[in-house]
Amino acid sequence: MDMHADENGRALSEAAFEVAQWIILAAYIDDDINDRISFRLVAAPRFIATITPIGPRFDVKVSTGAVSAIVDVIARVAATNPIDDFISADSLRELGINDEETAWDFVFVAAMVFLALHEAGHCVAGHLSLMTGPTTRQKKLSFSENERSIITALAGAANDTSLTSLDISRMMELEADGMAADLIYSDFLEILATFEDHIPSGSPPSATCRLELIRLCTLAMTIVLGLIELYRLESMRSGPSLHPLPLGRMLNIVGRRLQMLQRNTLHRNEDDAAIVVDIDEPEEVIDIARDAFWLMMVVDKALGKPVFNSLSDELVTATESGFISDLQAYMSGSPPNRTDAGTEFSELASRAGPYLRHLKTFRLCDFWQLQDGK
Ligand SMILES: [Zn+2]
Repeated sequence: MDMHADENGRALSEAAFEVAQWIILAAYIDDDINDRISFRLVAAPRFIATITPIGPRFDVKVSTGAVSAIVDVIARVAATNPIDDFISADSLRELGINDEETAWDFVFVAAMVFLALHEAGHCVAGHLSLMTGPTTRQKKLSFSENERSIITALAGAANDTSLTSLDISRMMELEADGMAADLIYSDFLEILATFEDHIPSGSPPSATCRLELIRLCTLAMTIVLGLIELYRLESMRSGPSLHPLPLGRMLNIVGRRLQMLQRNTLHRNEDDAAIVVDIDEPEEVIDIARDAFWLMMVVDKALGKPVFNSLSDELVTATESGFISDLQAYMSGSPPNRTDAGTEFSELASRAGPYLRHLKTFRLCDFWQLQDGK
């Protein structure tokens, strides 16, 4: 990455933190809670995203290495796929975006917003408080550091439940991903608004255009989840992952995407009604699942490692059909069990009761009230 890209990456990252916290998140949580979270970029070559609780505050640090890694993966995707593999020329024209670079910058900002909202999700979901308990001892939450201390802290929290510390860690990740995805899928136009020249003026972009922006956001999230897994695989540590299987994290995210479409939040006028997903139409779910799987394969290629396809290259089709079936199951309310990732996801969901009850007292916003109430 050259100096210019580096500076561009930093500037866009700061803009992403700003929109994530003060535009998107601010609509869901009180300012006095939001004020307790601070985001900053720190110079470090590795892919790091950590939260350190300091008293009532949360210090979220994202490394410049994470910025470079995301920039690099986007560059590799752009080298193999033209932008119109992801968003049509018509939509770009409609948005007033005349250069590919701005479209890729949108993907970058969406990726950084996802990373920021994921970390914010851990804070407001009460995950840090669950780990630290009533004491004021500092415990970091990080996918990249101090795994042993996280395991030890979670073992304490898991004491009075039937869950293992790994279960709890994986449930936390699914919650943080789910919140970040929900907020992005609802407020992706705010990400577009960070590009001052392309603020949607007057009526919102057409339904097709909005669906394609949502697709770019899914690509951005896939890149972040792919990099997190790649980093884990390449690190020196061994042992089980604190994270759910990457395919299961995608199942969680794409499920949110479908639910959002199902709630018709895109449905602003008559014309839109035709493209809103009807999950009773199997083809609609299959199309979106297949497309999401294709995005995963694009990212796997860019990463140079099949992190999403847990089987082998020859078994891509098997993984794809398994993912599609799992997503159909998820949408119909039955447990996904066709892939290892789907099975893990179902098992976690079926045992989440004690975890959710435990967290109730630590939640800092009512985002989870619906799920907790179950
Ligand atoms: Zn996390």
